[in-house]
Amino acid sequence: MNQPEIHRRRSVPVRIGPVTVGGNAPVVVQSMTNTDTADAEATAQQVAALARAGSELVRITVNSEDAARAVPRIRERLETEGLAVPLIGDFHFNGHRLLDKYPDCAAALAKYRINPGNVGRGRKKDEQFATIIELACRHDKPVRIGVNWGSLDPALVARMMDENARAATPRDPAALMHEALISSALDSARQAEALGLGHDRIILSVKMSGVQDLIAVYRKLAARCDYPLHLGLTEAGMGSKGIVASSAALAVLLQEGIGDTLRISLTPEPGGSRTLEVQVAQELLQSMGLRAFTPAVIACPGCGRTTSTYFQRLAQDIQGYLQEQMPHWRGRYPGVENLRVAVMGCVVNGPGESRHADIGISLPGTGERPVAPVYIDGEKDVTLKGEHIAEEFQAIVEAYVARRYGS
Ligand code: SF4
Repeated sequence: MNQPEIHRRRSVPVRIGPVTVGGNAPVVVQSMTNTDTADAEATAQQVAALARAGSELVRITVNSEDAARAVPRIRERLETEGLAVPLIGDFHFNGHRLLDKYPDCAAALAKYRINPGNVGRGRKKDEQFATIIELACRHDKPVRIGVNWGSLDPALVARMMDENARAATPRDPAALMHEALISSALDSARQAEALGLGHDRIILSVKMSGVQDLIAVYRKLAARCDYPLHLGLTEAGMGSKGIVASSAALAVLLQEGIGDTLRISLTPEPGGSRTLEVQVAQELLQSMGLRAFTPAVIACPGCGRTTSTYFQRLAQDIQGYLQEQMPHWRGRYPGVENLRVAVMGCVVNGPGESRHADIGISLPGTGERPVAPVYIDGEKDVTLKGEHIAEEFQAIVEAYVARRYGS
């Protein structure tokens, strides 16, 4: 794989349990549950599924006393399954009370996420913010100060709008909104440090739902601090729209070296798996050459030369097979996540693309001889034919992996 020309922005490393975010650490994948946290069993199951899919941090909402009581049980349940994935508590309005009243919850969480716009209103805001920060210090937990443009502190917005109206050269509304998000994040971080939270215990995010807005606001924030940054396009939406919008925004920032951890905020389709957001995050990082998680399948899109679905089925089977094998392969075959497998539909680009991959198969297109040459490390190795091309190719992949990555 080509090493990307990406110079990561310098940030202070923050420890979250066994995971490091920022510094030289790879960009960390995170996700969030959508179960009722008070249902400890359902939440533990979903956290386990997200962690097994590759989420390195999992956020859970802690919105009620029942939810706070459930957190230690969720943690215990994960430990019994051998899952050390850190849990992040997401707090709005009552975090100060819940963390104070339920110290076992405060201890079981590895990080607290607070939104400065939803800590409290008026005079209470500063008191409640201070309580959460003091509890984070007491329990030695880092905090993400996560600003969201949908819930900006109204007092801050009103003050900034007044100042802007009186300014000789007022900013345009978009620039003012960006500045409000950044001020909220940086002022809250300064306040947290003044209350005793370490500089290396703070992560920031400033989420917006527009792609161009998100890119602009993170560029400005990145230039003004060295806290690690959590990336995410908020309310990205469903299906391909959410995937494309998130990828477009985050890819630009990642390419500029901005971002230490990320979440893809997808709305699941009814009955769809929550783990899709983890898969998309991994695929984004892998396709940019920033990290490798699963062997890559390079498949041509097919065209009028592939008139049967055989080629699509083979590409899908191989991809599914590689994903299924990864939990077993990861420990046994270090480096296997860098494997590249090509599944091509005909002789036009098939042999060429197959030669560039570690293993490639070029299937017969319509009207071509029913044979499928297999290339290994750039050389033609064998030609498959007959009814069992898929099974034989799978066996070749398995043998190659054992030979190349086995100890
Ligand atoms: S490799 Fe062949 S089948 Fe695939 S898109 Fe190109 S011409 Fe079509």
